Amino acid sequence: DLAALAALGARDALAPARTIKHAPEYTTRTALADAGFSEPFVEDFFRPFLSGVFLEDTLETSSRVFHLVWRSMLRGALCLPAFGVQSVPRALAAALPEGTVRLGAPVSGLADGAVLMADGTELPARAVVVATGAGAAARMLPGLDVPAQRTVSTYYHVAPRSPLRQPVLLVDTHRRVLNTCVLSEVAPEYAPRGSALVATSVPGDDTEPGRSAVVTALAEMYGTDTTGWDLLVARTIEDALPAMPPPWPLTRTCRTGKGRYVCGDHRGTGSVQGALASGARAAREVLEDLGGK
Ligand SMILES: Cc1cc2nc3c(=O)[nH]c(=O)nc-3n(C[C@H](O)[C@H](O)[C@H](O)COP(=O)(O)OP(=O)(O)OC[C@H]3O[C@@H](n4cnc5c(N)ncnc54)[C@H](O)[C@@H]3O)c2cc1C
Repeated sequence: DLAALAALGARDALAPARTIKHAPEYTTRTALADAGFSEPFVEDFFRPFLSGVFLEDTLETSSRVFHLVWRSMLRGALCLPAFGVQSVPRALAAALPEGTVRLGAPVSGLADGAVLMADGTELPARAVVVATGAGAAARMLPGLDVPAQRTVSTYYHVAPRSPLRQPVLLVDTHRRVLNTCVLSEVAPEYAPRGSALVATSVPGDDTEPGRSAVVTALAEMYGTDTTGWDLLVARTIEDALPAMPPPWPLTRTCRTGKGRYVCGDHRGTGSVQGALASGARAAREVLEDLGGK
């Protein structure tokens, strides 16, 4: 298994993304078996780890998506911005002229050459890029092909002291939780001094019976007494990721009609980098169509 892991790592890290995008496509489970991994290694490592990445636990995700995500993990470092993942759109917006971005301005629909705002106003637009989640995109662009969505719930516990003094993601071979991590070990900004913030994700809706099972699983995984931990909040995100079984299209155009475009993780790999890549493609197509550079 270690030799297979090294071979997989070398291949995915070095292969250009376009080679992976056009490689033969299977489920991730088949791709891992073909790559020479034993069934116990797949069950004990890949299945629990990837269930937290793809929010499904049968390894049915497209092998192309798996190889692209694996490639990103090998070539970059997993990270958590000190002030939350919103730092990414903030950094992008900071480069734009003042007043370009309006926040808290929901769109209710599209009209010919215009965007209809929920407050009743209309914004004329030569090009409209719908960059919402899949459900809202399908409402604005009738007939758009959108994938099923995966739901995830995350429990945030406050512990009086860190149960693990390392910035690592723990996965659960018993698959009671998707993964758990002491966020304040990754970024100390996430908890006041003298306490620790632990984030634990489970698949699907946040349900009451799940709560005690989660705390019991955490006690075992961290090897500590969790009775003194306080549940700060539990959040359920319904459209957390698209389901990405094969065949999963990765090279579709963003154009959906004259002056209309769509982008987002549901048009690429379900991930931040997939959403960014899809947005970059939409930008290239808009520029091409408007005759810009
Ligand atoms: C708990 C959790 C953990 C995750 N962890 C990771 C991770 O570690 N690494 C990773 O790569 N990915 C992770 N993901 C996935 C990642 O967050 C998504 O793939 C990514 O955010 C998708 O970006 P997007 O731009 O396509 O859509 P979104 O980020 O969903 O953005 C769509 C935006 O459209 C806005 N919108 C919706 N409707 C309207 C409307 N009518 N008018 C105006 N605006 C509207 C929404 O408010 C939202 O801001 C995680 C997801 C969750 C839920």
